Amino acid sequence: MLPKLASLIEDSLCSNSSLSIDPSLLAHSIQGTEGLDNFSDKQRSLLAIITLSQVSEIKVLLDLANQCATDEELAFSLYPISTGNNWGYGTSQPAGLSKTIILLDLGNLTNISHFDSELGLVTIEPGVTQQQLSDYLIAHNHHYMVPVTGAGPSCSILSNALERGYGITPYTDHFSAVTSIQGFWGNGTPYQSAVNELDASEEKFVDKTFKWGLGPYLEGLFTQSNLGIVSQMTIRLAKVKPDFTSFFIQMDDDGLLEKVVPLIRQVLQDYEGIVGSINLMDQRRLLSMFAKNPNGYDAHKVMLNKDINVLAKDLKAPCWTVVGSIYGSRRVVKAVKKEINDIFKQLPCKRVYSNSPAIFIANKLIKHLPTPLINRIPTLSKIAEQLDSFNKGKEIMLGKPNKVALKLAYWRHKDAESFDKNTLSPGKDGCGLLWYAPLIIMKAKKMREFVEFIRETCPRFNIEPFITFTNLKHDCVDSTIPIVFDLSNPKAVNDAHNCLKALVEEGLKKGFVPYRLNIDQQQWLLNKDSDFWRTVNQLKMSLDPYNILSQGRYNPR
Ligand SMILES: Cc1cc2nc3c(=O)[nH]c(=O)nc-3n(C[C@H](O)[C@H](O)[C@H](O)COP(=O)(O)OP(=O)(O)OC[C@H]3O[C@@H](n4cnc5c(N)ncnc54)[C@H](O)[C@@H]3O)c2cc1C
Repeated sequence: MLPKLASLIEDSLCSNSSLSIDPSLLAHSIQGTEGLDNFSDKQRSLLAIITLSQVSEIKVLLDLANQCATDEELAFSLYPISTGNNWGYGTSQPAGLSKTIILLDLGNLTNISHFDSELGLVTIEPGVTQQQLSDYLIAHNHHYMVPVTGAGPSCSILSNALERGYGITPYTDHFSAVTSIQGFWGNGTPYQSAVNELDASEEKFVDKTFKWGLGPYLEGLFTQSNLGIVSQMTIRLAKVKPDFTSFFIQMDDDGLLEKVVPLIRQVLQDYEGIVGSINLMDQRRLLSMFAKNPNGYDAHKVMLNKDINVLAKDLKAPCWTVVGSIYGSRRVVKAVKKEINDIFKQLPCKRVYSNSPAIFIANKLIKHLPTPLINRIPTLSKIAEQLDSFNKGKEIMLGKPNKVALKLAYWRHKDAESFDKNTLSPGKDGCGLLWYAPLIIMKAKKMREFVEFIRETCPRFNIEPFITFTNLKHDCVDSTIPIVFDLSNPKAVNDAHNCLKALVEEGLKKGFVPYRLNIDQQQWLLNKDSDFWRTVNQLKMSLDPYNILSQGRYNPR
């Protein structure tokens, strides 16, 4: 970096903010799970990293970038990240390939500037993580849930909503729960809603209570885009209900998929607001949560049916598992549990509830047994491990973040066993992971077509076909297929990318369209000449005419 540019930037930063240009630190900071560097000649690099300590500096830096944009020597662009844990979609790497990208790390902006305990509205800065919000709610005795995801405690709440991510607490769709945004467009113009601009009261609060504002809805332009930087966001939190149970419907016959889909839809339609989202997982996906990889973690091959049968028998893993949750008063939970039991009992299945006496007793027993004894007896330690995962899954549904889901990313990591499960961080730990996350119409026939498509395609590339369906509503399912591979094996990296490409390209022909893309797909899949992306580019030219923000992010040009 030119000394002149470095001093221009340093002069515009507060004393607690920093500019780093150390090459090894820069390279380390953009270590991703995606294996993009190994796969193609598209090397990503950074000019520098700026870590901010005050929100006001965002505008200063945008202004500086715009001023320098026409100077051949000083021109640079900014790529904001909040916590940079976008594992499988890019981690903390910039989407663009230019050599003059500065990563703008907003992770130290962790102020929770406003919380209304009557209404459950919280206003947060970009760096506020799931864990920080959880600690805040507990410390202040606020009975609201964190909108947690499987990505866990170290991830930003704000950026997950900007990615339009989702979880399995009652407000599943995280951007839906965003009521207000403030930020800056790429050209440096501040953004607040028209409602906030008109509001002449001292408290200026009403904007935080109403998502749609007044006039054209512009806040969506901050999501899956490169038009602006969000400096604060207000989110509606779901209240902790007096009672709760999760339900696990286990089916031992793969052929029951067609029968169970209409029942899931019925539950979602009939108990909307009481039942949160519902997940449907296949046997291999379930085994990835509880079993050790029978091939050894560095083998680049899928499990054989005989391995699956042995593991499934050992761990009592069914062919399909429906996982959902019921939130409400004691009487409501009791009544809906009964209804749900009646609905699913039409099928040959086992129904397990987290509030059942059997689970309660098992937890009590395990808690009171000495750890050395549990470790000595394999059956006991297996039960203890399964109960632990079960309890952690339940915590997630109750809005308490944890790392239980991260284990998946280590399925093909040759040192999988050596990591402390409390400090897992797939990017830093060298895990190989990409996501295929297409939308599917919630109809049994279409879902079966998808299952067959995944089971046929993934093994061709030695990728384990792990299947999860998450209901975003009763009419739409998002399937998240994790493409887990050994990042240290060039063939595995190549196969993983070719697998994803095949899934996307073949999937589009069948109507399976991704809801979210990784930074590489954002370059090759989107057609800059289509009506949609030409319109996006017109907006870009107006809001960020010098293209100084998040080059290439959801924006083919
Ligand atoms: C095992 C596993 C389970 C997962 N489960 C889930 C899940 O349940 N749900 C889910 O949604 N995801 C899930 N993920 C994917 C991903 O890890 C999460 O979505 C994660 O929260 C995204 O990372 P982040 O919050 O650190 O975002 P960041 O990396 O900080 O941000 C993501 C992108 O948003 C943009 N951005 C960030 N901050 C700003 C800002 N202030 N202004 C403008 N643009 C900004 C940037 O372009 C950035 O690249 C999972 C990943 C793994 C490995």
